[in-house]
Amino acid sequence: MHEWSRVNTNGHSVGFVPTMGALHTGHEVLLQQSKHENDFTVLSIFVNPTQFNVQSDFDAYPRNDQRDLQIAEHHGVDVVYLPTAETMYPEGWRIFVEPGTAADPLEGRGRPGHFRGVATVVTKLFNTVQPDRAYFGKKDYQQLAVIRQMVSELNFNISVIGVDTVRHDDGLAMSSRNVRLTAEHRSAAPIIHQSLLAAESLIASGVTSAKAVQDHVTSILNATPDCRVEYVEVVHTTDLSPDAEITSAIVICVAAWFGDVRLIDNIEILINQR
Ligand code: AMP
Repeated sequence: MHEWSRVNTNGHSVGFVPTMGALHTGHEVLLQQSKHENDFTVLSIFVNPTQFNVQSDFDAYPRNDQRDLQIAEHHGVDVVYLPTAETMYPEGWRIFVEPGTAADPLEGRGRPGHFRGVATVVTKLFNTVQPDRAYFGKKDYQQLAVIRQMVSELNFNISVIGVDTVRHDDGLAMSSRNVRLTAEHRSAAPIIHQSLLAAESLIASGVTSAKAVQDHVTSILNATPDCRVEYVEVVHTTDLSPDAEITSAIVICVAAWFGDVRLIDNIEILINQR
């Protein structure tokens, strides 16, 4: 791995994978795609305090830098950027990036300030790394939409690449938070993906009412012991706006709790491509 200096890339392309560490196969797929499409790959690991709205969630967030560095080495990552909180947010700092409309629904309602923290840290990381391409998982679908909107509205010269969600064999989306599930909750949690597949089948059978689809997913989750639904919403893929009738590409987004662990997942349904 090398010291990072953007001017030394000599016209070679730079791919960037921003993460909060505790790397798993979901992150590794992003790294592989970046390695495949670029001359250099930069990975950042920073548990960003400004995107957590609950201090205990920040404190409990898993951290394992040594293991992460081994994974990065294994994938041939060229540079790992591990900024300190003091570098990112120096004494007296107060400038935030205000995200666009994609930040308002879904996570934006339950986690005030979350996407403001995301937009701010990603801007700082983009300015430091100056990548040609940046890789984000569709697992965090709204985050991807917020970043796309920010890159467009703030004229960043960066291609944002969305990567499909990587799942465990039982369908649970890989997440650094999964390690905090109890054994019982871990075995129940795949119901989230199953409920979204059930919604996909319902739409394939001809149902076009967003409310009917939402109710179907909610009732499956509510029938699962210890599962507390925060939201189930059907929104357009681009601007995440709601619509009563499903007539174009949509994404169904879920946030649900098992004990004190909050999980999110989604399924894209590209109506016009069926
Ligand atoms: P995080 O470390 O949770 O901030 O995630 C860093 C990046 O990895 C984000 O772009 C996430 O969307 C992406 N990511 C996390 N989990 C997955 C997954 N299961 N599949 C694909 N991408 C993921």
